[in-house]
Amino acid sequence: MFEYCERRLRCEQVDLDEIARSAGTPCYVYSSRAILDAYEAYDDAFGDVPHMVCYAVKANSTLAVLSLLAKAGAGFDIVSGGELYRVLQAGGDPARVVFSGVGKTAPEIRFALTNGIAGFNCESEAELAEIDAIAERLGVAARFSLRVNPDVDAATHPYISTGLRGHKFGVDIEAAEHLYRRARSFRHLRATGVSCHIGSQILDISPILEAAEKVLALIERLQAEGHEIDHVDLGGGLGIAYQAADRAPGIREFIQQLRGRIGRDGLTVVVEPGRSIVGSAGVLLTRVLHRKKTPAKEFVVVDAAMNDLIRPALYRSHHDILPLRQPEASTTVLADVVGPICETGDFLARDRELVDVRPGKYLAIASAGAYGFAQASNYNSRPRAAEVLVEGDRWRVIRERETYADLIRGETK
Ligand SMILES: *Cc1c(COP(=O)(O)O)cnc(C)c1O
Repeated sequence: MFEYCERRLRCEQVDLDEIARSAGTPCYVYSSRAILDAYEAYDDAFGDVPHMVCYAVKANSTLAVLSLLAKAGAGFDIVSGGELYRVLQAGGDPARVVFSGVGKTAPEIRFALTNGIAGFNCESEAELAEIDAIAERLGVAARFSLRVNPDVDAATHPYISTGLRGHKFGVDIEAAEHLYRRARSFRHLRATGVSCHIGSQILDISPILEAAEKVLALIERLQAEGHEIDHVDLGGGLGIAYQAADRAPGIREFIQQLRGRIGRDGLTVVVEPGRSIVGSAGVLLTRVLHRKKTPAKEFVVVDAAMNDLIRPALYRSHHDILPLRQPEASTTVLADVVGPICETGDFLARDRELVDVRPGKYLAIASAGAYGFAQASNYNSRPRAAEVLVEGDRWRVIRERETYADLIRGETK
């Protein structure tokens, strides 16, 4: 959805330069078509297999993005009460919400139960006991899956790998049967599924398939013991191509492979994709402030920084950087692209060949739709960026740029 047309980078049918000039920079821009195409790819690929595609809200929780997906019929995977609040405000259906996460608080559990969410993905016996007690007080039944740790290596960045025995996530798959048995004594809990999520930015899907097989084998054993398991939740994690060399599997191909393994009658399949729905659907627009040369290096200083997009600093991740206007004759420079923040870790790219990076020029930092704005902060008292949604030949601001007054909201002297 981001392509050059007559040397101008466009999002759908809108010239990104027009957005940069009018909305200012830094500014996130999302293609509604790209988001919906990715969601529909998941939804279609399941065909007649009963399924629920629960978009992982943490990847991009902006209201207009959630609303777009809610209207398309998506469910949601949440990891906090704040995310549930956002989903409800966006018009999402709580009956299609699953609540994941390793540390849910009592108020969050109460909030979820009073809104009738689909179920909890639980991570410990202590958590089961707490949900049971709260459900009892509210006079409701809570549906849950145990998130099991299948002990498979997602082969991704260590910070976003979650399915190995040493990680904080999930219940050891060997211990899960025992815990399901014990959970029978909790009178306000219903065990209806088994879940897992082994990591993020997974480019080789075989670990996901391996985890799925382990989880399905567990479900068979649980059903044989009389547990009424009606769904399997395989989490999210499908990666996207941040650079040409990344061999990202297509969504349809991924789901077809899954279908091949889990064509079991009756079982509803839940997936929780985040990055693969919004990642490639967004860019971060920024303006070149200065060029700076030291004896060792050349720097391009831009107005976006690690507080706007932390992925390069946190995960060493690569984002392509594209000029909004393709120059006729391009002279390239090899430089680091850095922001104004007082940290050496504040870089968006290192040793990168760049074209047309004179001061005043605009650049697009590609594949920034997931874990971009969602991880933005006010570090260095920088107001958070504006966000824009493009729909065909129209665009609108879906979040205003923060003001200085926003920076001190709620503070006292
Ligand atoms: C983060 C997360 C997801 C989404 O992961 P992606 O890699 O963005 O698809 C899904 N489920 C759980 C439990 C998560 O923590």
